[in-house]
Amino acid sequence: MSSNGNAKHVKVLVLGSGPTGYSAALYAARAELSPVVLTGMQLGGQAALTYTIENYPGFPEGVGGAQLGELFQKQAEHFGAVTEFDLANEVDFSKRPFKVTTDSGEYLADTLIVGTGASPNHLEIPGEVELTGRGVSYCATCDGWFFKDKKVVVVGGGDSALEEGLFITRYASSVTIIHRRDELRAGAILQSRAKNHPKINFIWDTIVTETIGTEKLEALKLKNVKTGDESTFEADGLFIFIGHTPNTQMFEGKLDMSELGYIKVNDKMETNVPGVFAAGEAADPHFRQVVTSAGMGAAAAIQATRFLEAESE
Ligand code: NAP
Repeated sequence: MSSNGNAKHVKVLVLGSGPTGYSAALYAARAELSPVVLTGMQLGGQAALTYTIENYPGFPEGVGGAQLGELFQKQAEHFGAVTEFDLANEVDFSKRPFKVTTDSGEYLADTLIVGTGASPNHLEIPGEVELTGRGVSYCATCDGWFFKDKKVVVVGGGDSALEEGLFITRYASSVTIIHRRDELRAGAILQSRAKNHPKINFIWDTIVTETIGTEKLEALKLKNVKTGDESTFEADGLFIFIGHTPNTQMFEGKLDMSELGYIKVNDKMETNVPGVFAAGEAADPHFRQVVTSAGMGAAAAIQATRFLEAESE
């Protein structure tokens, strides 16, 4: 890392500290490119908020999400990656080195690897924002403990809803999973675990239309999408797991993206801007697994290394 005025000049700048970012950093560090990782808001990314990860190879008993994140970080730093607790706000790709403005200053980067991941979607119903942290949550690992012996509702029918719902059964007296269809999207193992759990029950074909409560959540207004019937359901907690949106707003108009905001990459993780690579959930609407994000991060770093080598030939 060198300084150019107040800006720090790096060969490889990695945005994001999840599995994508630290895998990219590991590979770039081992190529002796001294990568700098800007952590973003959440060190370790979404994976670090997961209680147990059971499908990352090499951990037959599963591994804690936070623990895996620490291992990723430690391994990348062991080979020379540097972590900066900083958040990128703006990028300028009009010339190289690329300029990246952060909370604490400016970076000039010969190559950039975007591993900014994705954030949980909101239901966008009345009361949701006001009661976030007062009964409404998007993270069972973070907030499950607050619902000891309480009645909890989980919205969603995917892997996240079931996995997090199962986790909340450690604390809650009951977990009701409300899904807008009568068929779950989640994988078979999670489905059978949830369906057989004595504390979990399901409400099908139903959406939550409103939260009730001022100081804290007290109940939810529900609507059956098939019959139109409306009802009120008492609940102390509402955990929402209805998918994610990629954290790519910063790149709008600067990188080619899909309609849903995923950065378009080719099979070498190259974006439409030479020297800018993207990997993990910022660029992947299909797989969104820790192992696939880590793999994409590694691929992006290998390609960034080749890009820099080709330039210096
Ligand atoms: P997801 O698979 O996209 O599922 C989102 C769920 O929310 C769907 O059931 C969807 O209903 C429902 N939904 C979406 N918008 C809604 C709305 N406005 N109101 C009510 N319900 C709504 O998201 P995810 O569960 O977060 O999983 C994301 C990815 O991570 C997936 O690829 C998943 O396999 C992966 N993941 C894997 C694991 C694991 O392997 N253990 C754990 C967590 C996540 P519909 O089904 O009707 O569309």
